[in-house]
Amino acid sequence: MRAQPKASHFVDGAYLEDRAGAEIEVIYPATGEVIARVHEATPAVVERAIASAARAQAEWALVKPVERARILRRAADLIRERNRALSELETLDTGKPLQETLVADATSGADALEYFAGLVPAVTGETIPLGRDFVYTVREPLGVCVGIGAWNYPTQIACWKSAPALAMGNAMIFKPSEVTPLCALKVAEILVEAGLPAGLMNVVQGRGAVGASLITDPRVAKVSLTGSVPTGRKVYAAAAEGMRHVTMELGGKSPLIVFDDADVEDAVGGALLGNFYSSGQVCSNGTRVFVQKGIKERFLARLKERTEAIRLGDPMDEAVQMGPVVSAAQMEKVLAYVEAGKAEGARLVTGGARAGDGGYYIRPTVFADVTDTMAIAREEIFGPVMAVLDFEDENEVVTRANATEFGLSAGVFTRDLTRAHRLVGRLEAGSCWINAYNLAPVEAPFGGVKLSGVGRENSKAAIEHYSQIKSVYVGMGPVEAPY
Ligand code: NAD
Repeated sequence: MRAQPKASHFVDGAYLEDRAGAEIEVIYPATGEVIARVHEATPAVVERAIASAARAQAEWALVKPVERARILRRAADLIRERNRALSELETLDTGKPLQETLVADATSGADALEYFAGLVPAVTGETIPLGRDFVYTVREPLGVCVGIGAWNYPTQIACWKSAPALAMGNAMIFKPSEVTPLCALKVAEILVEAGLPAGLMNVVQGRGAVGASLITDPRVAKVSLTGSVPTGRKVYAAAAEGMRHVTMELGGKSPLIVFDDADVEDAVGGALLGNFYSSGQVCSNGTRVFVQKGIKERFLARLKERTEAIRLGDPMDEAVQMGPVVSAAQMEKVLAYVEAGKAEGARLVTGGARAGDGGYYIRPTVFADVTDTMAIAREEIFGPVMAVLDFEDENEVVTRANATEFGLSAGVFTRDLTRAHRLVGRLEAGSCWINAYNLAPVEAPFGGVKLSGVGRENSKAAIEHYSQIKSVYVGMGPVEAPY
């Protein structure tokens, strides 16, 4: 097996195996071969993870922020030094092309560690004068945090959750997606190598039930999920029972709006990035591309040309631009949407079929003349399928863009500065782009509104989601009791 980890779990500073847990096969999406096997965490493994996290967190909260930061920064350096090996593992885990993973996964994880390391020593409270008395505030860690990941960005998600959590003095127990269980183990290993005390970063494997068992433990203070809306509903409800903090990074069906005056090449580039990066398996993708009628034919002509030039193939070949989707199940789901698009009368511009018969490859697919009621315009597909819709004017497109239960992202391409900002002000989305798409630097808050989630990852905003404020009233004079 090409990517077998040392053991299934990483708990209390070391790899840990327990073969009593059900087996999970790790499949390389480019070939369908089994590249590793891990075991689901048994209740004993979960208990060890939570107990060690609770023990270690109590000590970690007492470490000076600048010392916590030094460890995280060292981990960021180690990740960058090992970027190639980590990127190859990411490619084996997900099937995403090396051309992407070399620049978007471990490196983005390192950015998060570096960013929160830099930020945390500057986090302070405030003093509120009250005449003779005063109040001061302290930002304290939450305690033991649980992170649950989706399969599309296993390294990045593990880092985006653990970096702010650890920086603020929390412990993290991360459960990767059962589809891509390998990368998070390396993140934990590197953090410990960088000096992180045992127990602060644990990785336990398993399907949904393992995630569910973590959330309801009374020692857990917070859960951060990256996943689908149906899972989000369950996890949010389970967290509510214990009044736990939550961050929910869920799905989307985001609009990308192209006005007549847009630069065609840029708009087509944005639409390609917003639909075909990672074989379309990106939560913030702009999968409803609204194109104003005056630019439609030019836009579609260039879109078809550039889509057909995409190099699909072996993700380990650095010249390849698109790999397979993550699993056979995901491929079947995406192909069913392609058939639904054809059946509902959308015009297939290019693609629309599986490629080859070994791995889970789907040709990048563009539908034009899509209408708002078609399934491909309403539901999250999570694959390389772009729906192009026509529109006439600004008011109409804003109404239609917002007519969805999701609200993760939105984009607008126009040369009209005031229109761009006016439109963004009206779009119901947590992350918006003007004349760009799908860039998610750690400096910027990331997250959704409506069913796409609650809370924000990255940026200064994440600090608030991994800490709580204590308010301390200090009485400086005699206590005036009326009794
Ligand atoms: P999923 O919802 O099927 O699974 C997500 C994770 O939740 C997995 O680790 C799974 O094991 C776990 N899980 C399932 N049921 C659970 C339960 N009852 N309790 C606790 N944990 C449970 O999602 P997926 O198919 O892995 O990922 C695709 C989805 O994730 C898409 O909807 C996509 O939009 C979304 N996503 C969102 C973001 C974001 O930042 N907003 C990023 C990436 C992916």
